[in-house]
Amino acid sequence: MEETEKSKAYRGDFPVRDENVDNSFKYEIANQVGGEGLLRCLKCGACSGGCPVGSVIDYRPRKVLGNVLLGLKEEVLSSDQIWLCAACFTCEERCVQEVNFTDVVTVLRNFASQEGNAAPGYVAMAKMVMKNGRVTARTQLVDKMREQLGLPPLQDPAIEQLNHIMNAAGLKRVFEAQKEREDESE
Ligand code: SF4
Ligand code: SF4
Repeated sequence: MEETEKSKAYRGDFPVRDENVDNSFKYEIANQVGGEGLLRCLKCGACSGGCPVGSVIDYRPRKVLGNVLLGLKEEVLSSDQIWLCAACFTCEERCVQEVNFTDVVTVLRNFASQEGNAAPGYVAMAKMVMKNGRVTARTQLVDKMREQLGLPPLQDPAIEQLNHIMNAAGLKRVFEAQKEREDESE
C-alpha cells in the first residue's frame, strides 16, 4: 500500500530499527534506586492523562516510559522530554502498577547528566548552589523582609563542606561531561 503524508505522520519514527535499540537499557534503569518500578509499566497511559505538564505542552510520561522499555537509550537520554517533569506526583498517585515515574525520571536525568546532557537550567542552578549555598543569591531585600517578619537572619552556608558533598555526589563529573559535550558541538 502506498504511504501517504498522513500515514507517515502517524507512524512517526516507527518501526524502531535494531541498530537504535539497547535491550539492556531498561534493566540498567530498573537496577537503580528509584527505577525498580519501570518493568511493571503496562503503558496504560493513566499517567499521561493526568499530567498537568502534558495538558499544556507536547509531553507524555507514557511515551518516555515506552521509549525506555523499547531500549531507545540514546534518544531518551538526549531528549528534552526527561527534563519537563515538574515532579508533582500526580502520575504516581494514578498509576495502578506503582511504577513511580517521578523516581524513574530522576534516574534518567542522572544518566543523562553523566553523559553531558543535563538541561542547562539545572546545571546553572547546581552551580549557583555550589557558589552561594542557595538556588538564588542572598539580597538585602530578603534580609530586610526577614527582619520585618521577625525571622532570624540567614546563616552563611558552609560552602566548602557543601562543595565537598556535591562533588562526592557526582556534580564534578556532571560539569565535566557538560563541558565535553559543549566542546564537541563547537
Ligand atoms: S507508569 Fe503506570 S500509569 Fe503510566 S503507563 Fe505505566 S502503568 Fe500506566
Ligand atoms: S510527576 Fe511529572 S510526569 Fe508525573 S504528572 Fe507530574 S509533571 Fe507529569
